[in-house]
Amino acid sequence: MEPERVDVTRSFLPPKEEYMAYVDTIWNSVCLTNQGPLVQEVNAKLQSFLGVQHFEFVSNGTVALMLALHVLDISGGEVITTPFSYVATTSSILWQENKPVFVDIDPETMCMDPNKIRKKITSKTKAIMPVHVFGMPCDVEAIEAVAEEYKLKVIYDGAHAFGAVYKGRSLLDYGDITTCSFHATKLFHTIEGGAVIAKDSKVNKKIQLAMRFGHNGDMHYQLGINGKCSEFHAAMGLANVKYLPELIEKRKHLSDTYDEALRGHVKLLEPVSGLQRNYAYYPVIFRSETQRQKVQSALNEGNIFPRRYFYPSLNRLPYVQGDPCPISEDIASRILCLPLYPSLEQSDQQRIIRLILDKLVK
Ligand SMILES: *Cc1c(COP(=O)(O)O)cnc(C)c1O
Repeated sequence: MEPERVDVTRSFLPPKEEYMAYVDTIWNSVCLTNQGPLVQEVNAKLQSFLGVQHFEFVSNGTVALMLALHVLDISGGEVITTPFSYVATTSSILWQENKPVFVDIDPETMCMDPNKIRKKITSKTKAIMPVHVFGMPCDVEAIEAVAEEYKLKVIYDGAHAFGAVYKGRSLLDYGDITTCSFHATKLFHTIEGGAVIAKDSKVNKKIQLAMRFGHNGDMHYQLGINGKCSEFHAAMGLANVKYLPELIEKRKHLSDTYDEALRGHVKLLEPVSGLQRNYAYYPVIFRSETQRQKVQSALNEGNIFPRRYFYPSLNRLPYVQGDPCPISEDIASRILCLPLYPSLEQSDQQRIIRLILDKLVK
């Protein structure tokens, strides 16, 4: 009998009756969206969980990035960004009619290399958009120093950073704005959803308006869009949030098991001082592209589907003419994210490890 399919992730679902209890309140209030009680509640809970000054729950992580660029007035210019991310980072920059300018990554953290930013700054540069890839912190101090020197805005794509704490603060609490995603595949999810975390209260006010069409009643203030989430999404967030510490703990345990078995055989994420990890992903970097291919095929034959996070390096997108980024392109060719989710069976994890090690020694 073929073993059951194992994917890179599997969404956590809370006990159904706990979700349904929230749904019952929706049936009672007949309030489905537009700042309903559940959206307000989840907004407040997530904000206090993160310990951030401002927090706006929005429809997804991509709209969060678009809103961030929009309210900081970043359009028609250049935005310095990382080639090693999910495509949404670059597409938000393009969507706001900016040119993405790629800065290669640090091979250890896989985040933007701050030492390479200055060379890419021109008179058109308006902002820097780095990503805390796999919940690894960017060099936030170095990035802030460059941004201050050149008067640039910093927007962090924190889609992977929920639950990570860096130097005693949520990793989502850096930059002018940090965005997050609560998509079903993320560590914490609201089915679809995201957040904008702004440092400045005036900027936050603009987010609040921009995500609701730019008006408040009959008063129209600015260009806006629909960035709202429904009460049903908020209900999923409320049902999920109390399981968060337990989910991170289970992920940590699985990550430790992978670490023990794979250390020395493939390149792993190494601990960063000052970082309390969230264990959102388990990336491994193989010696060569061929080795990565061999392992991937062997896993696929065993009905196991890791993902190539991230491939291609975004400077290589067919609709983007980005400068070469040799480190990012190289890592993109050799990396796989292994299955990591709280309900991953120990036996499946052992099978994954065996299949990998088997291909490495041959
Ligand atoms: C998931 C993700 C996004 C997009 O979030 P959505 O909620 O799916 O729109 C953006 N950036 C990164 C790095 C992501 O992983």
